[in-house]
Amino acid sequence: MDRTYIYADHAATTKLDPQALEAMLPYLTEAYGNPSQRYAFARPARRALREARETVARCIGASPEEIYFTSGGTESDNWAVKGSVCPGGRRRIFTSTIEHHAVLHACAAMERAGCPVVYLPVDAAGVLPPDTLRAAVTPDAGLVSVMLANNEIGTVEPVRELTGIARQAGALFHTDAVQAVGHIPVDVRDLGVDMLSASAHKFGGPKGVGFLYIRSGAELSAFMDGGGQEAGRRAGTENIAAIAGMAAALEASVLRMEENRVHLESLTERFRRRLAASGLDAVLNGAENRIPGSISASFRRAEGEMLLHRLDLKGIAVSTGSACNARSTELSHVLRAIRVPEEYAGGTIRLTFGPENTAEEVDYIVNCLREIIGG
Ligand code: PLP
Repeated sequence: MDRTYIYADHAATTKLDPQALEAMLPYLTEAYGNPSQRYAFARPARRALREARETVARCIGASPEEIYFTSGGTESDNWAVKGSVCPGGRRRIFTSTIEHHAVLHACAAMERAGCPVVYLPVDAAGVLPPDTLRAAVTPDAGLVSVMLANNEIGTVEPVRELTGIARQAGALFHTDAVQAVGHIPVDVRDLGVDMLSASAHKFGGPKGVGFLYIRSGAELSAFMDGGGQEAGRRAGTENIAAIAGMAAALEASVLRMEENRVHLESLTERFRRRLAASGLDAVLNGAENRIPGSISASFRRAEGEMLLHRLDLKGIAVSTGSACNARSTELSHVLRAIRVPEEYAGGTIRLTFGPENTAEEVDYIVNCLREIIGG
């Protein structure tokens, strides 16, 4: 990859960690046995699967038998939402308006199947106040699904408080922790969640692999019927190389978490200061409690999509919170939910820094923004 290109979109995906690649290689080459087979040749694959499950469990404070490997965040979210309430029983789902589409569209599918869903509003920082859930929850609640960190604005939700309310109501609690795992400390017991989704490619692992934590005893139907893999709940021959890579990447991210946090927060702070000094009229979105290195900035009377393309021409990758068509600018559901003032919302970009980004790159990005918007 050309190092002159500045990648500032780590919430979209991350570079494969060299340790993850190293952990994957044996299972892509000589150790290709099927872990379900009983002969000695399959033993390395079986061991890799067991060790990966132990590593992932240790990194999030779970037990190995509570970790179920999946194809990523989308599958984990779909499993949690669709497997925990029975449409026939009409148990109600409570979720927030700023969830990822993997949760929102899974909820919409449940609605079509006859299961009522309540979409709870968030405040201007994107936080779901515990009192909002407390006031809304009903005795027929089957599932509460609220993300741990938002992918567009970086806001960390008060999940620990929310799980207590769900438990009192007798509902299961799922959290989409795709943007949180590997970036902030995550302990499933401390959070009190019944299910937690994660995706490897957001923390230096390969794409197309993730996991769902399911608390022992939590009732959730099987997601994929077939062979007996994943305790018979998610059938299909395991992608051993990807799973081994995910475990190695997660372990490395947890080890470097504090060092990364310090670096990413210094970049964020630098961006804020440079932006304030630039004279550009912008608002920053999201709460104080946020994912390190994540910035959502809305520029007055600018167009997010135009900014994305102009920055791209200057060798900078960021993402936007809006899409333009011939007649109007369509805002993302998250920007609408947090009610970013109209004259700013259309000009929103998301920057998410990673360990390889530098202070010089931050300065260059702000200079480019000044040139594009101010000039
Ligand atoms: N949930 C959140 C919060 C995400 O940010 C994403 C990906 O951007 C997903 C779920 C989907 O994860 P995956 O790409 O592994 O399917």
